[in-house]
Amino acid sequence: MTPTSPIQSTSIQPMIQPAAQLQQAQIRTVQGKPLLLASDLEGVLIPEIWIAVAEKTGIPELRLTTRDIADYDQLMQMRLDILRQRGLGLADIQAVIATVEPLPGALRFLSWLRQQGQLIILSDTFYEFVTPLLEELGHPTVFCHSLQVAPDGAIQGYRLRLEQGKRRAVRAFQELGFFTVAVGDSYNDTAMLAQAHLGILFHPPANVQEEFPHFPVVQDYAQLQEALEDLWVSQPVGD
Ligand SMILES: [Mg+2]
Repeated sequence: MTPTSPIQSTSIQPMIQPAAQLQQAQIRTVQGKPLLLASDLEGVLIPEIWIAVAEKTGIPELRLTTRDIADYDQLMQMRLDILRQRGLGLADIQAVIATVEPLPGALRFLSWLRQQGQLIILSDTFYEFVTPLLEELGHPTVFCHSLQVAPDGAIQGYRLRLEQGKRRAVRAFQELGFFTVAVGDSYNDTAMLAQAHLGILFHPPANVQEEFPHFPVVQDYAQLQEALEDLWVSQPVGD
């Protein structure tokens, strides 16, 4: 009697890959930890949804975003009040979002990034808004919030999944053993940027950059890629 059946040995065989293939599939490690990039969504990978809504509806007050107002609840209550006054519901906003495209170069950057490490998108937007956009982005993992919508489609309110969700997610990834890089453009990103091993401002407005001068700033995907590559190029051998 043989200890291993032929079926078992053939099923194990395909899992053995040549060393060269394994080399290519390797993701980056920094300080001995696998790389995880936590990225904001709006202003980094897609345009600001509310600015698109302001343009389509001709309501200038909806142009204000987390880039302008630091208090997220104040900003959201203002937006919801305007929608109520104008009789605009979820379907109206979704019709605008259907016209939103990823920022130029975003898909190519994401394709490069996925070969380097793990990507999680941390956003203060809502699943009801972004789900149609995720297909274009290749269905990345997104942690965001939810809307409270009435049966007639009126947006009644919003439900934060948790307070300080971006910062707490980055802290949890660190506890899980990842080297974390956080990328964002606005006030609501600065706490996760501070928490991350490396926090980078991506094409931020002047007011955010001035208030948070200690964060490195990149203006486009080429500069962001360079900043990430510096992480592993500058590492001592064997790290
Ligand atoms: Mg943003």
